[in-house]
Amino acid sequence: MTALAENLERVEAAIQEACRRAGRPRAEVELMAVSKTHPAAAIIEAAGLGLTLFGENRVQEFGGKAAEVEALRRPRANGSADSAVIGSARVHLIGHLQSNKAQRAVELFDGIDSLDSVRLAERLNEAAGRLGKRLPVLIEVKLSPEESKAGLVPDSAEAAELLELLPSLEHLDTRGVMTIAPLGVPEEETRACFRSLHKWRERWAAAYPKLGLDVLSMGMSGDFSLAIEEGATRIRVGTALFGARPALATAQAGSAGAA
Ligand SMILES: *Cc1c(COP(=O)(O)O)cnc(C)c1O
Repeated sequence: MTALAENLERVEAAIQEACRRAGRPRAEVELMAVSKTHPAAAIIEAAGLGLTLFGENRVQEFGGKAAEVEALRRPRANGSADSAVIGSARVHLIGHLQSNKAQRAVELFDGIDSLDSVRLAERLNEAAGRLGKRLPVLIEVKLSPEESKAGLVPDSAEAAELLELLPSLEHLDTRGVMTIAPLGVPEEETRACFRSLHKWRERWAAAYPKLGLDVLSMGMSGDFSLAIEEGATRIRVGTALFGARPALATAQAGSAGAA
C-alpha cells in the first residue's frame, strides 16, 4: 500500500467518525484533495484511488501540471477536451485569483472556489462567456481579522453588491461559500469561524433565493472533523493526504496563496 493510499484510509475513517458524531450521512461531505505543490503524478495516483475533486491554489503552477495530467486523462463522451478532467475528476482553484488572470483560470479549471470581488466576478463571467462555459463558483468569505486572509468581509458593501450582481452573471453558477479558518488558534475559535460561515450561508440563501448556496467549503487537514460537525459539505485536505509541502508553499498557504 502506498503512503497516499494509507493516508486516504486514515482521512476517510476520520470523516466517517465525524459524520457519525454529527449524525450526518457520509454522502453529505465531499472530500477535495488539495494537490498544490505536489506533482501531476500525485493527482493521477489520487484519481486512481477514487478521488474526484482536486484543489490547486495557483494558475501558473497548475498550468504546468495540467499538460502532464492531460496526457493521462480519458476523453469525455462528447469529445470535449477543454477542462481539467481526469476521468470524472474536476480541478478547482482555491487560491486568490487576480482578475487579469481570469481568462487563463477559466480555461484551466472546472470551478473557482475563491471568488472574492465584484471585479473578479465580472471578469470570470466574461471569460466563461467567451469559452461557452458555465463556471461553478464559491464566494470566499473572510471571517478572521488577519490582514493576509483573502475573501470578502461578509457584512461589507462589496459582499452585498456581489450577491446582488451574481444572479445576472449568466456564465457563473454560484454554488456556495468557502472560508479558511485561522490556524493555530484554540478549537473554540475555529469552531466559531465555521459556525459563522454556516450562519452567513443560511442568511444569504434566504435573502438571495435565486442563488444556489448549497456548498459549505470549510475545514483543512488540521480541522476538518470540527468543520464536518459544524455542517461542512466540502472539506479541503492537502497535508493529511499528500504529506507536508515545501516550506515556501506552506507560507503561501497561510496567506491563502497567490494565484
Ligand atoms: C492549502 C490549502 C488547503 C489544504 O491545507 P492542508 O492544511 O494542507 O490540508 C485548503 N484550503 C486552502 C484554501 C488552501 O490554500
